[in-house]
Amino acid sequence: MYDIIIVGAGPAGLTAALYALRADKKVLVIEKETFGGQITYSPKIENYPGFMQVSGNEFAEQLLSQVTEHGADIELAEVTGIVNNGDTKTVITDMGEFQSKTVIIATGAKHRHLGVEGEEELIGEGISFCAVCDGAFYANQKVGVVGGGNSALVEAMMLSETCSEVVIIQNLSKLTGEAKMVRALEEKPNVKIICDTVVTGFEKADVLTGVKLHNDKTGEDFSISLDGLFVAIGHAPENTAFANLTALNEYGYIIADEQCLTDTDGIFVAGDCRTKAIRQITTATADGAVAALAACRYIDSM
Ligand SMILES: Cc1cc2nc3c(=O)[nH]c(=O)nc-3n(C[C@H](O)[C@H](O)[C@H](O)COP(=O)(O)OP(=O)(O)OC[C@H]3O[C@@H](n4cnc5c(N)ncnc54)[C@H](O)[C@@H]3O)c2cc1C
Repeated sequence: MYDIIIVGAGPAGLTAALYALRADKKVLVIEKETFGGQITYSPKIENYPGFMQVSGNEFAEQLLSQVTEHGADIELAEVTGIVNNGDTKTVITDMGEFQSKTVIIATGAKHRHLGVEGEEELIGEGISFCAVCDGAFYANQKVGVVGGGNSALVEAMMLSETCSEVVIIQNLSKLTGEAKMVRALEEKPNVKIICDTVVTGFEKADVLTGVKLHNDKTGEDFSISLDGLFVAIGHAPENTAFANLTALNEYGYIIADEQCLTDTDGIFVAGDCRTKAIRQITTATADGAVAALAACRYIDSM
């Protein structure tokens, strides 16, 4: 019987493990794909306090060894469900079942990809999903933003402050984000908006050099040169396995505030998979600490 089972070994899950282990709890971390989570896709992190610059892989490796050195059990398996038996929880995976007093769900979220050939190889080599994370790498350069909803507009606005030119590429006939933000972007001299247009391919040397586009209305195929492309067509959590266990919002995020408590006793949540405004490593690791200490308090009061 574990004290705490953590589902997901991204920054949130691994930080939760660290805090729980330092509080002398018996901890199992279950990860289905990549220890370190989505940050392993990033070649360069420059906004994590204490590091001038570190690669996502190096950051993840350090965090994982810190946790294993403290004695965490680790399993490579996919959690497919959790059964709440009251004071104990059964965590069901494709590699068997595990019993625990508490569970911390830290399954993260994924940026939706375009699904265009060549995209995966260019992630971190010109294609990004986060202006807060990577915008500074494109100062005084020309970038594209794919998407027309609020998140895409926020990314475009942020990039327009530092980039020489921002081209918004939207598949619909108009931008669908807040009207005030649309007006503000239309008034910016370094922002260009292309509607009715989809990305069909990429131009590259070693890194991205441009995108191939198709205008659905005119049927025209054309290309534009770009130094970077920010894909902002949505974000999806991975919480379907927990829909019967705890409340999710309309977008599938587990409903919780800064306390990281769910509406189910003994089930805690941390990181990008919960309802929150800012999804970054700092907020994920902060959640991991908060959720672990909340789980420890819960166990100690059982
Ligand atoms: C390319 C890229 C660059 C980024 N750059 C930065 C940056 O510079 N600075 C910054 O602060 N943030 C950056 N981010 C965002 C940052 O990576 C995330 O905010 C952070 O990783 C969230 O941590 P998390 O632990 O909540 O989730 P994740 O990192 O998503 O980890 C969740 C883990 O749970 C696992 N999992 C999911 N479902 C299951 C299941 N059913 N069973 C078992 N395991 C499961 C997943 O495989 C994953 O490993 C970047 C993101 C990307 C994609």
